[in-house]
Amino acid sequence: MPLSALEHYAYCPRQSGLILLEDAFEDDAATVRGTLLHQRVDTPGKRGRGTVRTLHRLPVYHDGLGLYGYCDTVELHPRGRVLPIEHKSGRYLPGGPADLQTAAQALCLEAMFNTTITRAAVYSARDRRRHSITIDQNLRDHVAELTIRIRDMLTTSALPPAVADNRCKRCSMVNSCMPRVLTRGEHFQRVLDGLYQPGSPAEQ
Ligand code: SF4
Repeated sequence: MPLSALEHYAYCPRQSGLILLEDAFEDDAATVRGTLLHQRVDTPGKRGRGTVRTLHRLPVYHDGLGLYGYCDTVELHPRGRVLPIEHKSGRYLPGGPADLQTAAQALCLEAMFNTTITRAAVYSARDRRRHSITIDQNLRDHVAELTIRIRDMLTTSALPPAVADNRCKRCSMVNSCMPRVLTRGEHFQRVLDGLYQPGSPAEQ
């Protein structure tokens, strides 16, 4: 399961379902901004600054959780401290979906480097700041719980229902998802039932 699935699922389970089950992905201005940002920071390699070594676009995985993906930036500090930094083009929301993706990166790095990671960071290009995240037990449990829920979704191929709330306004998938249509309940069902019936409302 890709690490990004955790962020998508935490934002809206249906968004993650559309991407993973239906291979659907749509760009909007925000996703294009994100892609351009990652083109700048995701050049694989390592650099040094003083006593800190910095790795870019590091492939990571966690066998136990079945996760794989890339870390945008990983700083290796003296005395073995490992700091993953996820880059986001938009505003940082404390406790939001980016925290889960970054915590999952930390869990992958812990397993790979045989270490313990208690801090990670999200860099927001919007305010050009690093936001520190505490990798506590609560966040670890949340990552584990979401991986189970996403795997259930993949196993059953059940696309989660549309949420049709404020999240949809900022979601690039809104055109293929059609949340307003799907949540109009009875009206949608009536149109669906009559889809192939000549003379039905759907035909008119
Ligand atoms: S449009 Fe709304 S319901 Fe559909 S995937 Fe996006 S946030 Fe979820």
